[in-house]
Amino acid sequence: GDAPAVAAVPQAGQDGLVLLRRAGRVDPGSLDDYRATGGYLALRRAFELGPAGVIREVLDSGLVGRGGAAFPTGRKWDATARQPDHPHYLVCNADESEPGTFKDRVLMENDPYALVEAMTVAAYATGCPKGYLYLRGEYPRAAARLRHAIATARARGLLGTDILGKGFSFDIELRLGAGAYLCGEETAIFNSIEGYRGEPRSKPPFPVEKGLFGKPTVVNNVETLVNVLPILERGAPVYAEAEPKLFCVSGAVERPGVYELTFGATLRELLELAGTTGTPRAVLLGGAAGAFVTDLDIPLTFEGTRNAGATLGSGVVLVLDDTVDLKRLILRIAAFFRDESCGQCVPCRVGTVRQEEALHRLSRRVSHEDLLLLREVGRTMRDASICGLGQTAWNAVESAIDRLGVYE
Ligand code: NAD
Ligand code: SF4
Repeated sequence: GDAPAVAAVPQAGQDGLVLLRRAGRVDPGSLDDYRATGGYLALRRAFELGPAGVIREVLDSGLVGRGGAAFPTGRKWDATARQPDHPHYLVCNADESEPGTFKDRVLMENDPYALVEAMTVAAYATGCPKGYLYLRGEYPRAAARLRHAIATARARGLLGTDILGKGFSFDIELRLGAGAYLCGEETAIFNSIEGYRGEPRSKPPFPVEKGLFGKPTVVNNVETLVNVLPILERGAPVYAEAEPKLFCVSGAVERPGVYELTFGATLRELLELAGTTGTPRAVLLGGAAGAFVTDLDIPLTFEGTRNAGATLGSGVVLVLDDTVDLKRLILRIAAFFRDESCGQCVPCRVGTVRQEEALHRLSRRVSHEDLLLLREVGRTMRDASICGLGQTAWNAVESAIDRLGVYE
């Protein structure tokens, strides 16, 4: 079932929050509340700056994608804006499906107008007359609130033709996913919206050149888009001084939920906020596609986690204490990838099955041959799979073997 919205935000109501500033404080159904708390100032600023000025601010802010891959947002916008082929499309990737990820849900449920405004800014900057909001089907509350926000914004002249009388036209269509993890892969989203099977396309060409309906397309995660509002409201330099990031903390903590910190805080500081009892056995960063770490002093930045052989990914921080059966957890992760593989390419279709089989054997009896086989299969999946699913299906298993010594 759907848990109460605010329970997922342990910091709700605290001063100083940027992305979660309205969570638990305003009525998410009220456009008047949204406007009374600074809503639509960023769009007005965007109209003053013009499309190129908005892209300049986003480039200067240093914003990188919050879906997991950390690609520079300004570069993506700039590349799309320059494409001569029209129309351009905007796709908001709200198919939040990485196990342990629930930050976008909290944003959409608590502050739906922020996403509508941010999509409008992105569309204005990149020249898109239409945006698709591709939402995970299992988020009914977010769907209802976004539907209401889109309709209200349209009725009040904030979507549709001639927005705020500035001659810019843009509208948003909400599309619901149907439960496939893979449909969060950006090119699988295109196929899904176009009515085909949700299978990834090969990249390049990247979506900025050839995306939805073969046209230049900007694809941004929900949290990425929402960051654009404070960038425009405060200006890039002020924003960049204390760049906000959401973390999804779950597992062996006293207060699981979404936390907003500024980049640079350590894992230990985050866990202190969430309340841990003792030192965890391990922390899974980045979800099923991520890796286990044991060092709590790593900085929670994309670079800091990469240096530690992990990934910040979509902000998953899954805390494991000594009561967790790690072999079972790893088997569950392997089964997840085997289930969710679309079967389009051999390394992933066969590799995810072989990986799970070897892990089953290893959980009964440790053998050198199976450990070698796992490595070979893992490397092949990482190097030769078409999309991120196959490329990351070995990450958590590898780190469990190498860092946690699960099969020693
Ligand atoms: P990617 O590195 O292939 O691409 C990242 C983004 O940058 C894409 O939008 C891509 O189009 C763009 N890009 C890359 N190179 C480009 C170029 N040269 N020119 C223009 N654009 C370029 O990563 P990906 O496969 O899109 O995503 C993988 C990530 O997704 C992983 O980090 C994983 O953690 C994350 N993920 C997140 C969720 C979630 O629920 N949030 C679920 C699954 C996976
Ligand atoms: Fe499909 Fe896996 Fe290949 Fe991705 S890597 S296209 S999920 S088979």
